[in-house]
Amino acid sequence: MDLLIGTSNPGKLNELREILVGVPLSLLDLRAVGLAHMNVEETATTLEDNARLKSEAYAQASGMVTLADDTGLYIDALGGQPGIYPARYGGPELTMADRRQKVLRELNGVPDAQRTARFVAVIAVTDPVGGETTIVRGECPGHIAHEERLGEHGFGYDPIFVPQGYTLPFSLIAPDEKNRISHRGRAAQLILPILARLAAER
Ligand code: IMP
Repeated sequence: MDLLIGTSNPGKLNELREILVGVPLSLLDLRAVGLAHMNVEETATTLEDNARLKSEAYAQASGMVTLADDTGLYIDALGGQPGIYPARYGGPELTMADRRQKVLRELNGVPDAQRTARFVAVIAVTDPVGGETTIVRGECPGHIAHEERLGEHGFGYDPIFVPQGYTLPFSLIAPDEKNRISHRGRAAQLILPILARLAAER
């Protein structure tokens, strides 16, 4: 069975490819199906509804079983910000590096015990035949470091996010290990039986 990965974020795409590597599915990205230009506005107010918006729009446009991911980052000392819109935090003109620096500035002087945060990934899978969407959620607790550490791995906020039980940020943790404990890895484990069922039905 073909599975369309409905994301234009190269970091998410890489990780989902790594996480789903053992699954007997042909993974296709938006470019491969001629939908790279198609941007789905995240107009909903929950991760679940935004993931559903994306998976349903891409499934309808492609006619393929489609997986989409919507991710939130909740930093306790910032009242739960950036929340469901980490990609827009601080405004559209900022780069991801600017956004990480903004978070670090806002947490300047905040002690370790109060730097707690969590990533939440919601994965939606839509079957265009019948239009059914299944939604799962994975969480990864941790804290925000005092400074960023750019590594070879990861993307987005990885250089400043240290998962619980670790001393290094995601950017310095091997991809296999990140995928085992991360929000996205945990959500993906929950979606595997759904993908297996859809593949068996075809
Ligand atoms: P969205 O899910 O496309 O709305 O955006 C999520 C935002 O969080 C993007 O800015 C990503 O760079 C960032 N992000 C998503 N997942 C991760 C992750 O696993 N590590 C670090 N940053 C992430």
